[in-house]
Amino acid sequence: MKTYDIVIVGGGPAGLAAAVAAKEAGNDSILILERDHELGGILNQCIHNGFGLHTFKEELTGPEYAYRFIKQVLDLGIEYKLNTMVMDIAEDKTVTAMNREDGMFQIPAKAVILAMGCRERPRGALNIPGYRPAGIFSAGTAQRLVNIEGYMPGREVVILGSGDIGLIMARRMTLEGAKVKVVAELMPYSGGLKRNIVQCLDDYGIPLKLSHTVVDIEGKEHVTAVTIAEVGPDRKPIPGTEERYTCDTLLLSCGLIPENELSRAAGVSMSPITSGPVVNESLETNIPGVFACGNVLHVHDLVDYVSEEAKRAGQNAVKYINDGCKKAENDNVIELVATEGARYTVPSTINVDRMDDLLTVRFRVGDVYKDSFVSVYFDDERVMHNKKRIIAPGEMEQIILKKTQLTEKAGLKKITVKIEKE
Ligand SMILES: Cc1cc2nc3c(=O)[nH]c(=O)nc-3n(C[C@H](O)[C@H](O)[C@H](O)COP(=O)(O)OP(=O)(O)OC[C@H]3O[C@@H](n4cnc5c(N)ncnc54)[C@H](O)[C@@H]3O)c2cc1C
Repeated sequence: MKTYDIVIVGGGPAGLAAAVAAKEAGNDSILILERDHELGGILNQCIHNGFGLHTFKEELTGPEYAYRFIKQVLDLGIEYKLNTMVMDIAEDKTVTAMNREDGMFQIPAKAVILAMGCRERPRGALNIPGYRPAGIFSAGTAQRLVNIEGYMPGREVVILGSGDIGLIMARRMTLEGAKVKVVAELMPYSGGLKRNIVQCLDDYGIPLKLSHTVVDIEGKEHVTAVTIAEVGPDRKPIPGTEERYTCDTLLLSCGLIPENELSRAAGVSMSPITSGPVVNESLETNIPGVFACGNVLHVHDLVDYVSEEAKRAGQNAVKYINDGCKKAENDNVIELVATEGARYTVPSTINVDRMDDLLTVRFRVGDVYKDSFVSVYFDDERVMHNKKRIIAPGEMEQIILKKTQLTEKAGLKKITVKIEKE
């Protein structure tokens, strides 16, 4: 089998942007491995618009956005293999994959970019009482059925979970003639973007019931009704608040989890908060030469940020190879700490010598904060204090650090990101 400098696992927006950036940074030996029968990842089923406002200053559909990158991959002559499942990544960066034409094969690589995306949280983990009849789908599966396969999952719909996919599907099902009766959300806030609540629920008069969950599913062969109830601060249903909705479909939109079985098996250190790899300023994991980007690293709200992050992963993979595939020095490393409302940061550490002039640090919060400040401390000194009208878990936040700021502060050991009331 041929060897490649860079093997990219996943041909979604992250893998495509990483490949284009690596090629443009001067590397000609790149291979994308994609298990699906086409490039583009999850965007192929997202036929709604709203993609690319940051990157292209235009409103594109998911497939249109993906195609902009697929075209660049084709124009640049970057190699890719479809219908090819990556099974294993060894610590020496030998990638084992399988497809019908080649069978099982191995590719030794100098650098590997993890870009496997994420998957929906499985229903089994949600402990809903009641029967397990037909008519229960994850929102993403329903999206694929409606937008790609051309099937309607049902006509009367209840949605549990207000993540973006659930919100988008509330609108989609309505446009296709279904009646979406309610969206129930366990948390006291939505897990989705504000713009999706307005454009997908409010505009269609679909009620969103926060602090509510499904407590019963009726129907032996097929769903016939769903009962929801209000939950208290302990997230337990409050007796007497039950409301029964007759319906034939229950869609579940209860969160996404990075697709990290491969990363874990490869020995990549994982964050218990994001369920994605722990990375440094170069988006490099604890295994030198293994980089991560996109939803496999942490679940993003906007694909524009995925593309931007993936571009850095591609460029850094080339830099790693050009520098002789050396392990990053561990001196002059600053730890990033998320606390008091901030749940995590990507990256987790910064090697000042290796960072670019500007470094975007992304994070999410664990609750809704109104009229609060995003604060950044260099050791004990507060250096950033940005007021925000609203900070919510559904929207990713970011701060930008300047290299000069960090080099000026000699001996800096820790950067803390937190949310403050004043
Ligand atoms: C339903 C939905 C609606 C969305 N709506 C919006 C929106 O309106 N606006 C917006 O900006 N963003 C939206 N997003 C977010 C955006 O689509 C994602 O942020 C983006 O697709 C993530 O890109 P990715 O490449 O990391 O992952 P993906 O697109 O999931 O791509 C990962 C790829 O890796 C492949 N893969 C995984 N494992 C393997 C393996 N072992 N071997 C080979 N290949 C593998 C997969 O098949 C897939 O093609 C939405 C996302 C979803 C799911």
